[in-house]
Amino acid sequence: GIFFLRTTAEDTPLNAVDVAFAEQVSRAAAQALEKAYDLENAVLGREEMKALAETDPLTGTFNRRALTDKMVQEVERSSRYQTTLACLMIDVDGFKQINDAHGHLAGDAVLRDVGALLRSAVRSVDVVARYGGEEFVVLLPETDRAGARVFAERVRQKVATTAFGTPERPVHATVSIGISVYPDERVGDSEGLLQVADQNLYKAKLDGRNRYHD
Ligand code: GH3
Ligand code: MG
Ligand code: MG
Repeated sequence: GIFFLRTTAEDTPLNAVDVAFAEQVSRAAAQALEKAYDLENAVLGREEMKALAETDPLTGTFNRRALTDKMVQEVERSSRYQTTLACLMIDVDGFKQINDAHGHLAGDAVLRDVGALLRSAVRSVDVVARYGGEEFVVLLPETDRAGARVFAERVRQKVATTAFGTPERPVHATVSIGISVYPDERVGDSEGLLQVADQNLYKAKLDGRNRYHD
């Protein structure tokens, strides 16, 4: 930075005392700036660390641990403000076969693309997380059962009509989706919300896959 000293023509010229004083002021200012700079870096570092700890490295979505926290928060919020909260458990159908037919790396790419597809399908307040291997969970605050169905059908269709992989070697995939909503007499807390979504996912699989169940 620059510390600018100026006198007018009528003033007496600056002397050694003035310079010493100016030096002291500028040294103090520089120290304050340095401290602020260090603090900002530390905060940024902490935020980066937090984001890293919450993120699934393959898909860039939230990981399971972060999801657990967000679910508790969202259930609490929805209960306090008496709004609805929808939860979708989304599982890639026959993923084992996709790995077997195209290789594990191509399988990974499908997971990455499904994650990206989900992230682009949601609003900024929604939560997308990788729950496990080829399973994702999406939380939709302020969304009721009807809204969740519309969203599930949109995701189902989008996945079913997307060519994953490369143009030379396209990979086709479908997903099954289990829906749960809060409030619901079967759902007491965030764990219950996951359980009902999981049960409905199982039903969607039994019903023939490439569909949602609620
Ligand atoms: P379903 O339609 O019943 O869901 O059948 P599925 O084959 O998808 O289900 P299953 O649970 O039998 O297989 C899941 C497969 O996902 C098995 C496992 O090897 C694979 N998998 C889990 N995590 C990853 C991963 O990170 N990358 C890849 N490429 N495969 C994974
Ligand atoms: Mg699975
Ligand atoms: Mg599966």
